[in-house]
Amino acid sequence: MIDYHVHTSLCNHANGTMDQYIQNAIAAGLKEICFLDHLTLHEGGKHLSMTPDYVPFYYQSVRQLAHTYKNHIRVKVGLEVDYDPKNAHAVKKIIAPFDFDVIGGSVHFIDTLNIVSSKDIQARENESIDVICRDYLMLLDEMIENMDVDIICHLDIIKKFGRRPSAEFEKKFDAILSKISHNDLAVELNTSGYNHKINEFYPNTSLLKKCHEKNIRMTIASDAHQPHQVARYFDKAIDLLIKTGYRHVSAFTHRKPYDIPLLISNHDILKIQNGGAS
Ligand SMILES: [Zn+2]
Ligand SMILES: [Zn+2]
Repeated sequence: MIDYHVHTSLCNHANGTMDQYIQNAIAAGLKEICFLDHLTLHEGGKHLSMTPDYVPFYYQSVRQLAHTYKNHIRVKVGLEVDYDPKNAHAVKKIIAPFDFDVIGGSVHFIDTLNIVSSKDIQARENESIDVICRDYLMLLDEMIENMDVDIICHLDIIKKFGRRPSAEFEKKFDAILSKISHNDLAVELNTSGYNHKINEFYPNTSLLKKCHEKNIRMTIASDAHQPHQVARYFDKAIDLLIKTGYRHVSAFTHRKPYDIPLLISNHDILKIQNGGAS
């Protein structure tokens, strides 16, 4: 299996060495791990990201480790970039000189509001979740149009702290999914939600089914900020992907996707034929 979203201490809110993430991935039996550390230029998030001048160091460090571990695991290098309309152009310029394997796109900020931080809780609670969701989807839509990303990270992150938007937003998510499908982008099944108040994956099962119906590529991601979180809840995630109808997840090299099979043995296939992968 693969884990396509782990952080490093360069973002100032994750810990452990890159080696530790890789060693835990090997111990978990993964064939591939992809570093997808934060790059944001947003005023409110700069302290939670590597600074632009660290990008060359980050890139080279991961490439070096890929070489060191090449007989044990494939190590890929990507970035989780924030979509921030004011800085979109600047971010693209920073990324351009590097041959990243994959670029993940995230919306963490709506104007000055941080929608993922537990510190911004009061400002967030003062706003209705439907307003947050409306603005979030607008930015997601813009990100798909304006940023050259390969993976949409934690698609329904707005639910992180337990509040869900009203049912009418289902349709708006549908429109976003159609655009994701049309652009042949991937969505990640991000397992970190099991450690958040919402206690479920991003995206939820109903959105995941729609992703499958629309032939959207899926990848799998722990969003680990500590080495022990690598591949967290992956048994559950893989079961869910198979039950939803997925038979592959997507991995990337030089921004080109390729398939990693979810079913690896006749035993797995028999389990499916017998009604599930549990
Ligand atoms: Zn994120
Ligand atoms: Zn992340």
